[in-house]
Amino acid sequence: MTALQNRPPSWPRRILRWVLCSLALLAGLRFWYAFHDRYPGYKMAVSIDARKAESVRQPLRAGFGRVKITPDVNDPQHPVWLAGFDNGRQAKSVHDDLWAVALVLDDGVTRLGIVALDAIGFFHDDVISVRRRLPSELRLDYTTVCATHNHSTPDLMGLWGPNEFRSGVDPQYRERVINAAVAALVQAAGATEPVRLGLHEIATPPAGLVTDTRLPEVYDPDLRVLHFVRPGDGSTVGTLVGWANHPETPWSKNYDITADFPGVIREALEHGIRYDGQVRQPGLGGIHLFVNGAVGGLMTTHPSTVVHDPFLDRDFKEPSHDKTRALGHNLARRILNRVTNSREPLTERAPISIHARTLELPLKNPNFVLAGLVGLLDRGHVRWQHMRTEVALLTLGDASFACIPGEIYPEIVNGGIIRAPGGDFNLDPVEIPPLRELMPGRVKFIFGLANDEIGYIIPKSEWDETPPYLFNAKSRPYGEINSLGPETAGLLHTALRQRCDEQAGRPAR
Ligand SMILES: [Zn+2]
Repeated sequence: MTALQNRPPSWPRRILRWVLCSLALLAGLRFWYAFHDRYPGYKMAVSIDARKAESVRQPLRAGFGRVKITPDVNDPQHPVWLAGFDNGRQAKSVHDDLWAVALVLDDGVTRLGIVALDAIGFFHDDVISVRRRLPSELRLDYTTVCATHNHSTPDLMGLWGPNEFRSGVDPQYRERVINAAVAALVQAAGATEPVRLGLHEIATPPAGLVTDTRLPEVYDPDLRVLHFVRPGDGSTVGTLVGWANHPETPWSKNYDITADFPGVIREALEHGIRYDGQVRQPGLGGIHLFVNGAVGGLMTTHPSTVVHDPFLDRDFKEPSHDKTRALGHNLARRILNRVTNSREPLTERAPISIHARTLELPLKNPNFVLAGLVGLLDRGHVRWQHMRTEVALLTLGDASFACIPGEIYPEIVNGGIIRAPGGDFNLDPVEIPPLRELMPGRVKFIFGLANDEIGYIIPKSEWDETPPYLFNAKSRPYGEINSLGPETAGLLHTALRQRCDEQAGRPAR
């Protein structure tokens, strides 16, 4: 080794070395921050049997609460980026308010909290934040936080900022929504009173309401309703309404904040169906909570869907708030007709059971990894390319609720999965039997986007990224680009089947 080689590097070289080391360190920190687990060690494993409450024989109690989550669209420091369609869709005005609506149920032994947010989606990490902020005196054994999947609300997932490289999430607004969910639950818990429960399943043909934009054509079209009434005067405390459709009726050129058809339904059930201040059909009073269902595959009131407004006797095709009102009133009318004319006996006792588990799902979508790396998707990995999420099976008397952490295809719920010609795997349906066959009870709700939004949950035998495309189509179908991967549906189906087995006391399969 010569003396020359031992000479210290020149200043430019030293500076270059420093710059490269600093960049490597920054990249490492960025990588760690993007994918570190926000709640290390978090596990949810609840198994509460309804028989506990059956022995106590207490009447069911229910309470509702709600907190406004309408953003300020006039604050130049905090532009509101609307979620769901393209980037750069900044909200200009408020058409109607957004809400966090909560329901607390108490069977004398077990207490269950349900929150529905007028939001596009709410990640599992945010749900954990809600749970950790709940005051212990609420004594909730389990809380499920659902999003209505509304496409006229602020971005809470990060994908719809001013451009493709910037998140649209305002951290202050996200904090506000988390706190609103907590406050709504506190209100609901404080409002619990003895109730009688009515269960309704209302056959609702999809034509003129919702369109399936991807084959096979399978819907989850029916309305399902829990109606809570006071035992004394029979007045309404509130309802929980389940239906399955993308709230995106005003479509992509809408710049107004609106709760879409879930808001129209809630308003109509409370105050009646009104036009120009005139009540055309009386409401029920009370507070109403809307939970969305199996919206994958893809359930939408498309700009080509013609919606008839039965009160104006007018058709609406072009996306507009009037079309949204027609859709909401169409559904609210069916609910009001059923609930007010029902002769079915109401239930005084409705024991609660809860079977919930966290699970890990592999993340095979490189776009989602990249979106995490550049800071668009702000959610942790439990281990590299594995996300924590959650499923639950809940029962309330003769009703059951499957909590599903994303946009499940209706054929996984109701049957009708196909071995799709052109599919990437060329195999028979994997996610069988249909979830509704496994679920207990008489009225079976799907809570979609419950406790997470992982994207589309696609049957493996219908998965298609590579040519030939499904049904000889010229281009790939829409869906896979917003999914974790082809194993997601099977893993969730298994986890839910296990919860159903557990609930029924069957040995695990
Ligand atoms: Zn969607």
